[in-house]
Amino acid sequence: MNRESTSRRVIPVMVPMPVERPYSYAVPEGVRVEPGAILRVPLGPREVAGVAWDGDGEPVEPAKLREISQVFECPPLPAEMRRFIEWVAAYTLSPPGIVARMALRAPAAFDPEPPVEGLRLTANRPDRVTAARERVLRYAADGQAWTRSGLAHAAGVSSTVIDGLVAQGVFERVDIPPPPIVAAPDTSFGRPELTPDQQLAAERLREKAGAETFSVTLIDGVTGSGKTEVYFEAVAAALDMGKQVLILLPEIALTQAFLERFHDRFGAKPAEWHSDLAPRKRERVWRQVAEGQVRVVAGARSALFLPFCELGLVVVDEEHDPAYKQEDRVFYNARDMSVVRGRLGNFPVVLASATPSLESRVNADQGRYERILLPARFADAALPELSAIDMRRSPPARGGFLSPVLIEAIGRTIGRKEQALLFLNRRGYAPLTLCRVCGHRFQCPNCSSWLVEHRFRRQLVCHHCGHSEGRPEACPECGALDHLVPCGPGVERIAEELTRHFPDARTIVLSSDLLGGVKRLRLELEAIANGEADIVVGTQLVAKGHNFPSMTLVGVVDADLGLANGDPRAAERTFQLLSQVTGRAGRSGKKSTGLLQTYQPEHLVMRALISGDAETFYEREIEERLRAALPPFGRLAALIVSAATRQEAEAHARALRRAAPAAPAAGNIEILGPAEAPLAMVAGRHRFRLLVQGSRRADLQAYIRRLLEAAERPRGSVRVQVDIDPQSFL
Ligand code: ADP
Ligand code: ZN
Repeated sequence: MNRESTSRRVIPVMVPMPVERPYSYAVPEGVRVEPGAILRVPLGPREVAGVAWDGDGEPVEPAKLREISQVFECPPLPAEMRRFIEWVAAYTLSPPGIVARMALRAPAAFDPEPPVEGLRLTANRPDRVTAARERVLRYAADGQAWTRSGLAHAAGVSSTVIDGLVAQGVFERVDIPPPPIVAAPDTSFGRPELTPDQQLAAERLREKAGAETFSVTLIDGVTGSGKTEVYFEAVAAALDMGKQVLILLPEIALTQAFLERFHDRFGAKPAEWHSDLAPRKRERVWRQVAEGQVRVVAGARSALFLPFCELGLVVVDEEHDPAYKQEDRVFYNARDMSVVRGRLGNFPVVLASATPSLESRVNADQGRYERILLPARFADAALPELSAIDMRRSPPARGGFLSPVLIEAIGRTIGRKEQALLFLNRRGYAPLTLCRVCGHRFQCPNCSSWLVEHRFRRQLVCHHCGHSEGRPEACPECGALDHLVPCGPGVERIAEELTRHFPDARTIVLSSDLLGGVKRLRLELEAIANGEADIVVGTQLVAKGHNFPSMTLVGVVDADLGLANGDPRAAERTFQLLSQVTGRAGRSGKKSTGLLQTYQPEHLVMRALISGDAETFYEREIEERLRAALPPFGRLAALIVSAATRQEAEAHARALRRAAPAAPAAGNIEILGPAEAPLAMVAGRHRFRLLVQGSRRADLQAYIRRLLEAAERPRGSVRVQVDIDPQSFL
């Protein structure tokens, strides 16, 4: 029987909505749709872009069956990508439609890029041949079509010269394909001379990247050891095999320097992918990745959902970085999902870090990942000499936050015309403002957090919801005038203190509050690298990936800051962040120093940093996690219940707890809470948390799915978010 002639074919289509499975649509007669095809389909009163999924569509009542409206002229989403979307959805307990939406984030890219106008030489000759015209004719003599500006540029003439020739019929207009957004990388362009250590590592990586099978390799090398240089060789190997490559970076918008290094090595830049990209550029990158024109993407975590057609290697730089975790809608960790992507696509994955996550370290220790060590800095650069400043013994002067020991060291550094970096992971001027008469504290009306004073902007700002208000003269509680005091330091306040001590020094404050956004930040970073500042005060923005050649002192204003927050990764995080930030010093061979202001110099983290004995630190942390059955030796998931009122949030959180499958049935899974979240209110929503804890083998997802099915549906303003492998416990 000829099926086509008796009934329309029904196919499943994944629509970008919170749906659990694809919807069924009819395919109009004579239209061919292959799995992965990107389609326009009617959905309610609207039309949306969806993806043709695999197999047959579920049967639908004929009256309800609607037809697809359009098959876009666009490469289909590869099977690997469809399996990846399903995998991420199942793992994170997100509706697959919402995960699919992340792969469809460039709607205008589903239509082919329009051709651009090109010019091709005809048989006509110009009436008069000037020197400029002569040059144009010489370039165009190859018979190829040129863009108007390309030809003008190549011949070194103004475009009016070209226009004159067009007017005389010397050129004809033809359509040419749009130019690639980036040039093709050349793997033999700037091959560096590697040190023996690097050489060994590079050979191993080349082997892995050339093997066309799944593997994970962890490059564990101190800051400045040449990890980037080494993984570029894996990139070269993958490109030589005709594969596409994805390099994930935690802070892509700031990594201009990375793009330039890539250019030095491959003679072309990689395509960038991040949230600051202009929409038009975004669409072109998406399209050219799908078509295979773009061979290398350097991007933020969302680049993992680009429609690569020949992906053969993913590199995750600074793999330990918390920025890889998305905590919004689909809660996923791009580092972990990169490994999954490699497994599904059967290709190698490379993780690089100077301070690997404990998860990756344990995976390497247990043989699941291969670990490659780069123990020394490149050339004559030495790691900075670190020591603690015991703040109990060398306290700051009244009203200040910098110990005399640190101030003296800064003075000596800038006296030598070298640079100092002061690190404090706190934006603004002061994290709290209070009234000295009545004790009133300024709190955000929408969140359970203090308002942070930003003195440059003259405002009190909430860092959770963005609420801001002017700083009043009088206390709103008791009316006392001029008795409001800032408590504690932010980077602006440290800069003010430095200006008192070093009025002639050029001091720059770097944080995400900088007016002018990413562009301005890039300029400032360049200025610092060029030696146009003496002292830099910065938040964690300065910790990542920058190379400041004359920076020889890094002072950590509050080394204890991240230690006391009840997060199981507090010590690990602090160790990673402080290693990274002190690693900014001494990158060009000069002797360099790192000073940690701390009230607990005997703390394990401080001792590890100062002795440089990371091994002992990792061993102790691993033991500790093993003992407490915490990740990676146990599994965690958080359920975050929020609602407009505290009562609603608490009631639903309790209902979830009651619905939890009983302990014996759940095997080795335990549920803790609910408890009010440490951040009890954010943006006007009250929050409660439950924590699900299980052994390494426990199927937390199945357990939580059963729990959510057994519980009543959230009603009214209540929302439940599931966070598998949570990184934040706030
Ligand atoms: P990491 O990624 O480990 O921090 P990088 O790859 O950034 O280290 O290297 C640190 C610095 O040393 C960079 O400026 C890099 O260009 C330089 N470098 C490292 N290895 C070499 C090499 N083999 N030849 C030339 N320069 C190198
Ligand atoms: Zn707020």
